[in-house]
Order: sequence, then structure tokens, then C-alpha cells
Amino acid sequence: MSQRFFVENSIDGDLTQLEGAEALHFLHVMRGKVGSVIVLFDGSNQEFTARVTETHRKSVDLDVLEARTVDRESTREVSLGVALPKGDHARWLVEKLTDLGVRRLLPLRTERGFVPPVDAALTKLRRAIIEASKQCGRNKLMEIAQPVDWQDFVSESGDSNGLARFVAHPDFSDSGSKAANAAPFAGEERLLFAVGPEGGLTEEEIALAESHGWKTIHLGSRILRIETAAITLAAWAALE
Ligand code: SAH
Repeated sequence: MSQRFFVENSIDGDLTQLEGAEALHFLHVMRGKVGSVIVLFDGSNQEFTARVTETHRKSVDLDVLEARTVDRESTREVSLGVALPKGDHARWLVEKLTDLGVRRLLPLRTERGFVPPVDAALTKLRRAIIEASKQCGRNKLMEIAQPVDWQDFVSESGDSNGLARFVAHPDFSDSGSKAANAAPFAGEERLLFAVGPEGGLTEEEIALAESHGWKTIHLGSRILRIETAAITLAAWAALE
């Protein structure tokens, strides 16, 4: 895949520009020049071929040569609520979830979790989504929502609009039959997952989810980190 750049303002004419981090990447990392032909995406599920016509200190002017729809989204629509881990761990997780095609990430406020990211941190995470999309070829950005309280999150409308909801919860009892997890998403086109914080979800939080129709899902006989649990669910849903 040739070098891809993200354009913040949707492209709908013959001219466009790289700005901010994208322009700096082109000018200083790629050492791009007038005449370079590059691939652009603007989050609309289209890809564009464009030629550089002029470079400035902090922006790059381009002629759009071709627009085409290139859909690299998964057919299954997966959203994931997660009590995000701190700092670099959150960034790492966001990158992997973007690669795996998750459509929407909702940072959760749970009883035992960290304080969810503030606006500046969300902006940084959005940058990580753009970087991952450039690399993996995704033309739509994974959406990242404002942090939401567990109570509000689990009461979001479910089955009525075809949304199947699963909360990851370890179950090491003998009754937690492994076969219970066989093909749990079969026939489901829209999935919403929840992964708890490092301290785990409380019994009350699980009970509340169940009272709103969520199913619990266990992911094997070991305690996984938040990142591992989230990635396992995203990969499972993308490939099952
Ligand atoms: N300290 C907690 C574990 C938290 S792990 C405890 O001892 O129970 C963080 C989150 O990852 C959990 O809230 C859960 O959503 C998910 N998780 C971790 N391991 C899991 C497993 N084996 N099965 C299902 N979910 C798991």
C-alpha cells in the first residue's frame, strides 16, 4: 500500500491540503516534494490519488487526480466499551482496535477503574487512530466517544435494534462450561462489548448489565489484561 495521508476536511473537489501533523510527516519524515503522487483518505470510506502542487512551511497543496470508494470495514459492526488503561497502554489498545476494525470505542467510567481520559487525552488517542488507519488501510476512522458511566452505558438500547451485548467477565467456576462460548456471535451483525478495569467489574455492575439483557462471556481460564481481553473480543468478532 503506498504512502497514505489523512485529510481532516472532507475532500469534495479537485483541490485539497495536508495540514498539521500530516503536512509535517510529508515534508520532514517522507521528505516529499512538489510532483509527488500520494494516496489520501478523509474518513468517508473513499481513497484519493493526489499530486503535490506546492509545499509551504506547515501545509501542502494537492490536486486530486482520482477518487474511488474503497471499503475496508468489517461487515459486522463492533462497538466496544472499555475502562481504558493508563497512558501508553490506552494508546496501544486504540491502535490494535483500529487495526481490527472496531467501529466505535466508548471509554467507561466504572467503580474500580481509573479516571477516564480528558479531552486532551482523547485528542491524542484520535491521533493514534489516524496513525493506525494510515498504516492498516482503513478509510473510515474508528470513532471514540466521550467517557460514559457504566450505568448509562449498560442501559443503552439493545436487542430492540439488533444490538447483541456481551460483557467480558472471568468465570473460573466448574459450571462455567467452556462449550458455552462456542460461536456466541453467530448470526449477529451488530455487537457491543464491555471490558472492565484492571480491578475488575463489581458484582453489582455485572448484575446491572444482566438486568438490561447483557450476556456475560468468558475468555479462558486465565485473568487477561484489559488490552488482551479487548483485543481477543475484537478479533473473535472480526473473524468468527
Ligand atoms: N482483577 C480482576 C480482573 C480484571 S481484568 C479479577 O481478578 O477478576 C480486566 C477485565 O478484563 C475484566 O473486568 C474483564 O472484563 C476482562 N477479563 C479478564 N480476564 C478475563 C477472562 N478470563 N474472561 C473474560 N473476561 C476477562
